[in-house]
Amino acid sequence: MKVNLGGFVPLSTVDWRGKSVCVVFLRGCQVRCHYCHNREIQSGQDFRDTKEVLEMIKESSLVISGVIFSGGEPTMQKDALIEMAKGCRKIGLKVGIQTNGGYPDTLKEMISAGLLDLVHLDIKTRWEHYPLLLKVNCDVVGQIKESFKICKDAYHSEKLPELEIAVTLFPGREDDAVYIAREVDDDIDIVLQQGVDGKIPPLQFEDLKKIGDKIRRKVRIQTREDGEIAYENGRILIADSIPLTDILQARRNY
Ligand code: SF4
Repeated sequence: MKVNLGGFVPLSTVDWRGKSVCVVFLRGCQVRCHYCHNREIQSGQDFRDTKEVLEMIKESSLVISGVIFSGGEPTMQKDALIEMAKGCRKIGLKVGIQTNGGYPDTLKEMISAGLLDLVHLDIKTRWEHYPLLLKVNCDVVGQIKESFKICKDAYHSEKLPELEIAVTLFPGREDDAVYIAREVDDDIDIVLQQGVDGKIPPLQFEDLKKIGDKIRRKVRIQTREDGEIAYENGRILIADSIPLTDILQARRNY
């Protein structure tokens, strides 16, 4: 089976908290975020055999315990993704996915088959702002809402071991996180990501802390300057020592 590949990072210690993983980027995405850092793989073609990708994963398997499928939007390529996830399972690796939630059927099938250990779901903005911000229609918003529900239900019924909801934040849109957090149960991780689009100065850690204070629950704050820091009600809980700039540079060098 062929897969439209966007890239491969053989070893990452920052894409799955507490794990060393490799990252497989699948090419193609149905939305166009203005801040996308993987524009070069939003479209285009680089079709490879899934066996070739599984060989790359196998080569990393001595030093990793899991695989993250990212993109682009990995769930667009349902059949290839499922085949590769099964291949990962066969060699004892955990499987995680970074998704914008646009393809709920893929998530549903993978969760039902027990093929997912982690879903990192990016909720881009509050629901009513999606059409304007991402130029997507209401059908796409409906699909993302469905994915959100599927993941939450699966997490609570223990069919999905790990779930985190990520929100990318920009100046002027700080309150998006507050709206989104209202729909995220307390036992599910919320990640506040510093949005960087090169046009306006990004929010800083202190700004994101204030958003965390408004949400009034534990959040994980990600900035280029400080990496990931867990924060709750005025207290920093854990510090990650690897700055995001290093990760982004490593990906650019791929
Ligand atoms: S969903 Fe992800 S890959 Fe797609 S445009 Fe947005 S940031 Fe880029």
